Amino acid sequence: MFTQATASILASMPLACVLIGQDARILSMNAPAEELLGANVVGRHHVTVLRQPALLEAIEQALHGDIPQKTRYNSLSEESDSVYRVTVSPVAGETGEAILVVFEDVTDVERAGEMRRDFVANVTHELKTPLTALLGFVETLRGAARDDAEARDRFLGIMEREGERMNRLINDLLSLSRVESSERRRPTERVRIDELIISTMSALRPLAEQVGVTLRHRIEGDGEDLTAPCDPDQLTQVFSNLIENAIKYGGTGEIVDIRITAQPREIAFRGPAVRVDVIDYGEGFDPLHIPRLTERFYRVDAHRSREKGGTGLGLAIAKHIVNRHRGRLRIESTPGEGSMFTVLLAAGA
Ligand code: ADP
Repeated sequence: MFTQATASILASMPLACVLIGQDARILSMNAPAEELLGANVVGRHHVTVLRQPALLEAIEQALHGDIPQKTRYNSLSEESDSVYRVTVSPVAGETGEAILVVFEDVTDVERAGEMRRDFVANVTHELKTPLTALLGFVETLRGAARDDAEARDRFLGIMEREGERMNRLINDLLSLSRVESSERRRPTERVRIDELIISTMSALRPLAEQVGVTLRHRIEGDGEDLTAPCDPDQLTQVFSNLIENAIKYGGTGEIVDIRITAQPREIAFRGPAVRVDVIDYGEGFDPLHIPRLTERFYRVDAHRSREKGGTGLGLAIAKHIVNRHRGRLRIESTPGEGSMFTVLLAAGA
């Protein structure tokens, strides 16, 4: 049954494949299968190698029933957990029947599906909360507060805020999907980053003044050294989000510092870079949050974010845009002292 031709077919398969003979012993396997199940198992009884009951059951059925089977296999290792879709098929050979077991790694597909489901659940929840409040107040205005001018005014104010929250959320979702669809195209327009930031700061100054925050900036370098290929609208959004967060979470009466520096040599790009630091001296957060901070809807303090009108999407959008620019977004924070969000962009051509 097991010929040179069979071995070379198995070797050319990109998926992990194991061939089991009628005596239930492993006849052959390819390199991906060795990686999955370990080397030097050819000749052993398959039960001692493929220990998972669902798979053993499928092989048993295929051995006796001659019918192809489908099942799943989980591989747990120190680095990662993987899920495989497994096909168990009886195959005819020169000297009798054998069973071909093929493992298809579906970990990424399953993870993507899970993320999509989580995302839909989150969006639904985020929209439902203000919507419930809006509908509740409409009912109150029709009933109990119908003739109470003062209450009506107050409720309309709340309804306006909730409506604005939904509007912000929808705008952020649209930005996110726009950024995602442009992610593969690299931006090319050459822009002076210092000028872009100064105009972003001017747009945000009224918001800063409302909460008594002073925006300061310092520029090191000039001209060509501060120029980077970018998508100016998208980068404006990144710096708006970062500066707005620094204003929101930086504490009233505080300062937000923005430093723009030309770096002749940045290790991350093996070349020149423009570095932008947005620094606040506010509440900060435990650095353990940093790896998850750019996930959609991840918030250190959900209540506080909502109270400040946050959508939980600002940093996710920023991260996507910086990735599209092949740049880096770095985050540092010390609870009680403040945070620094750094964007690095490759400068030059
Ligand atoms: P949000 O709309 O909630 O501000 P972001 O994606 O912009 O969403 O930020 C995610 C979370 O990161 C925020 O909810 C907040 O907990 C935290 N965060 C962001 N920037 C700062 C900052 N400058 N200081 C403290 N916490 C911050």
